[in-house]
Amino acid sequence: MTDADLGRRRLLKMFGLSATATTAAILQADQVLAATLGYDERTGVSPTGYTLPAGLARSTEAKQTALGWISAHEGTITKLSDDIWSHAELSLREWKSSLATAKVLEAEGFDIEWGSAGFPTAFVATYGDDGPVLGFNAEYDALPGLSQKQGVSTHDPLVYNYDAYGRTYGPGHGDAHNALGAGGTAATIAVARAIRVHGLKATVKLFGSAGEEQLVGKAFAVKAGVYVGLDAFLDWHPFNITVPFWNTTSALISATFTFLGASGHGGTPLGNKSGLDGALLMATMCEYLREKNVAPSGRFHYAIINGGGAPNVTPYMCSIWFFVREGSPQRARVLCDKIVECAKSAASASQTRLVHKFHSATWNLLANKAGAELLNDNMKQIGAPQFTDADHALAKAVQKSLGREEVGMPTALTPLTPPAAAYTGGLATDTADISWQTPTAVLLSAAYPPGIPNHNWGVTATAATRIGHQALLSAARYLAAAAVDLIEQPDQLAAMNQEFKDRTEGIEWASMIPDGTQPPLYRPPADFLRETGQSWPPEGVTWPVPQVVATEQLGTTGPALPPVTWPAVPETDRDLTRVLRSTAWLPKQKWRRAGRPGRAPQPGRARARRPPTRAGRPPTRKPPARRGPPSTRRWPPRSPPPRRPGPRTVCPCGSTAGSVPYAWPRPARSAPAPARAGMCG
Ligand SMILES: [Zn+2]
Repeated sequence: MTDADLGRRRLLKMFGLSATATTAAILQADQVLAATLGYDERTGVSPTGYTLPAGLARSTEAKQTALGWISAHEGTITKLSDDIWSHAELSLREWKSSLATAKVLEAEGFDIEWGSAGFPTAFVATYGDDGPVLGFNAEYDALPGLSQKQGVSTHDPLVYNYDAYGRTYGPGHGDAHNALGAGGTAATIAVARAIRVHGLKATVKLFGSAGEEQLVGKAFAVKAGVYVGLDAFLDWHPFNITVPFWNTTSALISATFTFLGASGHGGTPLGNKSGLDGALLMATMCEYLREKNVAPSGRFHYAIINGGGAPNVTPYMCSIWFFVREGSPQRARVLCDKIVECAKSAASASQTRLVHKFHSATWNLLANKAGAELLNDNMKQIGAPQFTDADHALAKAVQKSLGREEVGMPTALTPLTPPAAAYTGGLATDTADISWQTPTAVLLSAAYPPGIPNHNWGVTATAATRIGHQALLSAARYLAAAAVDLIEQPDQLAAMNQEFKDRTEGIEWASMIPDGTQPPLYRPPADFLRETGQSWPPEGVTWPVPQVVATEQLGTTGPALPPVTWPAVPETDRDLTRVLRSTAWLPKQKWRRAGRPGRAPQPGRARARRPPTRAGRPPTRKPPARRGPPSTRRWPPRSPPPRRPGPRTVCPCGSTAGSVPYAWPRPARSAPAPARAGMCG
């Protein structure tokens, strides 16, 4: 088998297609995916024969100045990370975290411009006005429910919200964006220091980005042109190993589907229209879709944001939030269209109204081999993050708690390798949209133990300890060192840009966000606006956002069916008849004509029909067996039977809507009937 065959087979696998298709046709069919993984095929990078280039990273005085600044300011940098960790602010509400980051940059002589693309917690910090422009990244948002005490190896939420019926945990940095923000900031300041001390001709910009966990901030900012004019972009992300990233990520679409209905009592649900039904039906249909209609590279997952407050109130508004992931924007749109069809059908089946809100969308990441190799060479020169025995012990304890192999923290760098043979789906990042504007180099640094997935309390536990500190300090050094190389070695920067041009040839980038889409926003606190010099709402933002109101009518139950459920479970034939009459299912006359098994015969007629005995004498009539009190043997009864004393069905809240559940034990006749609370629940 030749290398070309291997490459072709790999490409076919990558696209999930059969061997009858041609590579050229595939490349033509999805140029965006081809630009990421297919490019490496075309340029002859073989996963087995790849050798790492050496000599890219140089040790210069400017680089030593940059690295020296990081070593001299470890306390400042790790304090910023720990402060952001303790704020644990959710996406698009990073008021304290963004302010803390900007203040550190301001103190180092950066110009701060707040409110990028209308996001109050996004900013651009700039140093210099000459030479190539290098961009760095800072994110500082936390995740819901991932609160955890710092350095504690068993799940122990720092913020625990008590509710009698549903406990929740507070937000936490389960993706270590506290370390990410501080590491990116440190790298930018370090390069600025090298520019200042050595008179280098270059400009550095740190982009403080809002709402990365929801893939919002950068996607809108790129569309608004915030990232225009960069010569390269350098980014990192906390992970459980340390390695440069030379792969792609998923394209992603984020949208919420809200089902609007009509509320009512959960115990008398006929005619109510449940938004929760709509959301659950949609989720169920999508699960069937997943079984047969989703490629290996496709993913989707969802969360019900507002599923109702109590079982006895039919929720008339319920929102289900979807992330849809695929290998390229084109593929993500196809999968998203299938999911939208499920939403429409769910609305129809649940008799609810569907309101669909698009939030954000990003492309898949365009890697840069030249950038990854430059990062790798610098990482090898600087060395892997150094962890102490205490760090390894904490890592092993977290691994033990979560059922993973107790291997501690990684002691070496993971070697750079070409992208995997096939793209089988996975994570997404809004850095991806930047990667189609300018050559982008990304690395991962070990901020939590191997085997632990991100978005887990185990990450929150280690992200503000020495483990997280070592990850962010190492990442800052790697990024700063590579940036100084790009400034001092123009051919390195040119190589990244040439590769970028080659990869994107013939591809016309267009944001996946439709024109006129307003991003998800929260109104900032007044003191945040004052401190950052912003006004609210920003230009082009409609505020307040128009309300979504359920105006649906109750559903009809038809003329013969009053809108009640079965009033009581029958125990005897007599009870059954009463129930049938009360619900108008059986007219009185019709029941009489139909007769009733075991009915007492009428005097006279019954005697005439009785067959004679063998002796010719009329049979001796035996007294009928007594079946119960006389009143219950008459049919129909002359008057309604007296109600048996039973439990009170009046709720303390005053409602009489409840009925007696049949399975409950009946009180003894002699004992007084106890009042039963909560019957209307
Ligand atoms: Zn992240």
